Amino acid sequence: MVMLDIINLRTHFPSPDGLVKAVDAVDLQIEKRERLGLIGETGCGKTVLGMSIIRLLQPSTRVQGRIIYNGRDLLELNEKEMRLLRGKEIAMILQNPTTSLNPVLKVGDQIAEVLQLHMGLDKREAKAKAVQMLAATMIPEASKRADQYPHELSGGMKERVMIAMGLAGQPSFVIADEPTKGLDVGTKSEIVRLIRDMTTDRSMLMITHDLAAAGEICDRIAVMYAGELLEEASAKTILSDPQHPYTQGFIQSLPSRGLQPIPGSSPSLIDPPQGCRFHPRCPKAMEICKKEHPPMIKLDNGHFARCFLCA
Ligand code: SF4
Repeated sequence: MVMLDIINLRTHFPSPDGLVKAVDAVDLQIEKRERLGLIGETGCGKTVLGMSIIRLLQPSTRVQGRIIYNGRDLLELNEKEMRLLRGKEIAMILQNPTTSLNPVLKVGDQIAEVLQLHMGLDKREAKAKAVQMLAATMIPEASKRADQYPHELSGGMKERVMIAMGLAGQPSFVIADEPTKGLDVGTKSEIVRLIRDMTTDRSMLMITHDLAAAGEICDRIAVMYAGELLEEASAKTILSDPQHPYTQGFIQSLPSRGLQPIPGSSPSLIDPPQGCRFHPRCPKAMEICKKEHPPMIKLDNGHFARCFLCA
């Protein structure tokens, strides 16, 4: 059963240099209890896609297309209806806990606020439940930590607080934005395990540049580049048999696969290259790639790739 159906989504916003086409004609589906990893380099539009779903964007942003969640188009809901969904039905684990957490509020109180708002608990019940939520994230000495301020916690503990806050309203759909960013290797593997264990009965969009983490947590992976999707398949297929040259390059850049970065840098989202957006960096580019925009081509078993070589 499809839980989230994104159809021809375009999220564009004005900037002093022109219109930024951060998400450009994206189609994506996420099934009930499916975890999908959205992979790509910094600035490819993946966070904007997540923000478009939960509708946390600047008022000047133009969002077109359809985002059908459980049969309702989120883009047609008014702000009051959206507020009722946010945190309770659809929640976001924001990236960068250091700036996302309120520095002058104890972390237990920040989780308790979500519980009061979405679970109808009174203050005392919410505080007790917040400690339980923290304990569920395996934070050491949960009741002591609940009484601390964000600056008193390590990066890994702050990430656990973000996860507890994101899941406090028991949402059916979670958007996790770069949950492993900036963590050391040991803490990262603990957070990966925690997210995997705490989201088994939910749908999730995990936005990350960390393909290895997505491979451990997600059922399916979609690869984003310059505002559009380039490849989509099961996590196993993406890691073992990627078909798009960008995905192949991305995998080669992993520390475990030789750490060979893709030459060049991500293109402008204001004026992306004509033809295939990856052609200036693609080692397999042909003449046609400079002129024509490749369509998404169906390979097999839910595997799609936007490359003329796959036709
Ligand atoms: Fe490379 Fe051409 Fe395929 Fe684009 S369409 S990824 S430039 S081969």
